Amino acid sequence: MRAIVLGAGGFIGTHLVRRLKAEGYWVRGVDVKPPQFAPSEADEFLLLDLRDRLACAQAIGDGSDELFQLAADMGGAGYIFTGHHDADIMRNSAMINLNVIDACAARPVDRLFYASSACVYPSENQLDPAAPDCAEASVYPANPDSEYGWEKLFSERLYLAAARNYGHTTRIARYHNVFGPEGAWADGREKAPAALCRKVAEASNGGEVEIWGDGNQTRTFLYIDDCIDATLALIRSDVCEPLNVGSEELVSINQMAEMIADIAGKRVRLKHVDGPQGVRGRSSDNRLAKQLLGWEPKASLRAGLEQTYDWIAAQVAQATVAA
Ligand code: NAD
Repeated sequence: MRAIVLGAGGFIGTHLVRRLKAEGYWVRGVDVKPPQFAPSEADEFLLLDLRDRLACAQAIGDGSDELFQLAADMGGAGYIFTGHHDADIMRNSAMINLNVIDACAARPVDRLFYASSACVYPSENQLDPAAPDCAEASVYPANPDSEYGWEKLFSERLYLAAARNYGHTTRIARYHNVFGPEGAWADGREKAPAALCRKVAEASNGGEVEIWGDGNQTRTFLYIDDCIDATLALIRSDVCEPLNVGSEELVSINQMAEMIADIAGKRVRLKHVDGPQGVRGRSSDNRLAKQLLGWEPKASLRAGLEQTYDWIAAQVAQATVAA
């Protein structure tokens, strides 16, 4: 079996390539950059800019049994909610997705997977931190809280239309905050779990950790291994509609910071400062994923954070020695 992973230099792509290789696949990875923290395990790794139509056609080549489209201009709240990168995010990711459809229209791709996001859900359904509504069907009438979310929604529709008209077998996951080792942790694109692990690792015992906003905003976080399980189950399934791939273990950002401090064995004071926050509450709703795919996450937030904290603390220690 052959697989192509677009975005194979990124966090989820790196882990996905590793799993596909462990399953015995021949894998081509494609990205504008190689993975940052370990060499890719792909059989072939092409450094290509998928915004370029010809480069994208080259990336997809003669096609594959499974094509995973993970490439996107993305990051955590500090990247997608400040407004400074809106045009880049929409333009870059939409160009990639249009080129992928264009390349696939002419080539045999048995199964195509597209990584969408929880950011597609309407802002007004996520005002209550205790009871956000992110059931798949609630996505329309659309009102995502970011341009990143609007682009994801546009591209979901693009892939669904191509599936109807060009006959591709297409599967779409709406990922909810995926975290784990080998993700961005200090380059401005890191998400809350990695950012908080870094801040706790850098803090002295009894020191301060900065939290954006009042920290009462809630989220759920999915450990990377569970994300890869769901991604593979979904592309190989007969589920045609977009499906949530996330956790239902709802925590506030303050609670997560305290959990990380506990894992680190440190006492820290939370200092609330202004910063981009996104919606007040967001949780995956896994009823449809359980019903249609028989999937639910296995790792608890704490178990995932233990792995992630250890990895980030080691990165912080290395960076300190190097400085
Ligand atoms: P990531 O940023 O680590 O990986 C994305 C990769 O795409 C990067 O390596 C980047 O270099 C590559 N890329 C960007 N522009 C490119 C271009 N023009 N040509 C070739 N490659 C390009 O992000 P990730 O966390 O691995 O996310 C993977 C996918 O899942 C993305 O589509 C993202 O939007 C989606 N997603 C992720 C999360 C999450 O929590 N990580 C949540 C929702 C959705």
